[in-house]
Amino acid sequence: MLIVHKYGGTSVGDLKRIKNVALRVAKAKQDGNNIVVVVSAMSGETNKLIDFAKYFSDNPSKREMDMLLSSGEIVTASLLSIALQDMGIDAIAMSGQQAGIKTDNFHTYARIETINPTNMLKELDNNKVIIVAGFQGVNKDGAVTTLGRGGSDLSAVAIAGALKADACEIYSDVDGIYTTDPRIEPKAKKMDFISYEEMLELASLGAKVLQNRSVELAKKLGVKIVAKSSFSNGDGTVIGEEIRDMEAVLVSGIALDRNQARVSLRDVSDRPGIAAEIFTKLADEQINVDMIIQNASSDGLTSLGFTVPESELSKAKEIIENFNHDIGGKSFDSNICKVSIVGVGMKSHSGVAATAFSALAKENINIEMISTSEIKVSMIIHEKYAELAVRTLHSVYKLDR
Ligand code: ASP
Ligand code: MG
Repeated sequence: MLIVHKYGGTSVGDLKRIKNVALRVAKAKQDGNNIVVVVSAMSGETNKLIDFAKYFSDNPSKREMDMLLSSGEIVTASLLSIALQDMGIDAIAMSGQQAGIKTDNFHTYARIETINPTNMLKELDNNKVIIVAGFQGVNKDGAVTTLGRGGSDLSAVAIAGALKADACEIYSDVDGIYTTDPRIEPKAKKMDFISYEEMLELASLGAKVLQNRSVELAKKLGVKIVAKSSFSNGDGTVIGEEIRDMEAVLVSGIALDRNQARVSLRDVSDRPGIAAEIFTKLADEQINVDMIIQNASSDGLTSLGFTVPESELSKAKEIIENFNHDIGGKSFDSNICKVSIVGVGMKSHSGVAATAFSALAKENINIEMISTSEIKVSMIIHEKYAELAVRTLHSVYKLDR
């Protein structure tokens, strides 16, 4: 089998941990697999490099930042390769460029355009373990680019796709994806499997484990991801194509987003174009509007509510304050949160949402806004009920069994 391993910053956080990774890679190789390893910078290293640059400039050029930041991953890749060679394993370290990763020109947030796997294939033919520095590529002018924070996951998935690897194992200090945040509900269970679609909706549960952009890419390329811990030996969680059987499972996980705020507008003049005006202004300022609710109007006036990330509330407020003419009353509330239930089984079952609403009602939790998609129901509630709501929903869908 050809397997791509990816080790995150904590997994290679110090020299002892790099040695631990070398032992794991050696074992996988000795089991008879072809292995390509993608590594992150040692934990804290990328932030340290950013701080170094800030010492000299408030606004360093992005090209030079990429040159600088890409070095963190090069250090880990080289050290891991040296450690493997010392153990008698034939290994070779490569920069993103040497691995054939071509990107567009957007420095510090580049997209991978193509991968030319010739170099990697040649070294695999030579029976070598390849260690690729993650998070980086090269643009058509030959300048080093980086892929955005957490971008090593993206490198790993893209390489797994280009090499048609059997799996892309992503190692961190967490042993998989849980049905909800175990800090809130200790009865949360590690999942054996979750579909790409569900994982994308449950982003907050996977945030510490893998970057969401890499899940999108894996879905597009059909790369099977396995999220595992580099500190233990469990099977981890497989993230892959939905299987038919899964429709039996109604709800797979419960996500919580505390970073939400609500804008409520009353006595809004109900004329064509008003929503367009408001939301265009918000979009122009890159404010991410999530849920939107408009009520039926009476006497030519309506009410409108929407949510934005809490960190963007003050910007949203500024924009809304300028609409004096058309909006009678405005209020802003950051004491809210969003709980979501996610599951592919919802596609073929009705009543899933009703179960959630009844469960929250029984706990006297008022639902202030609701939105649904094919595989998700999200509810806005008061922040003080966040944890109770998560535990209540986790138990009503029997996720603790
Ligand atoms: N070192 C980069 C970061 O800290 C990329 C990565 O770790 O995936 O964001
Ligand atoms: Mg990471």
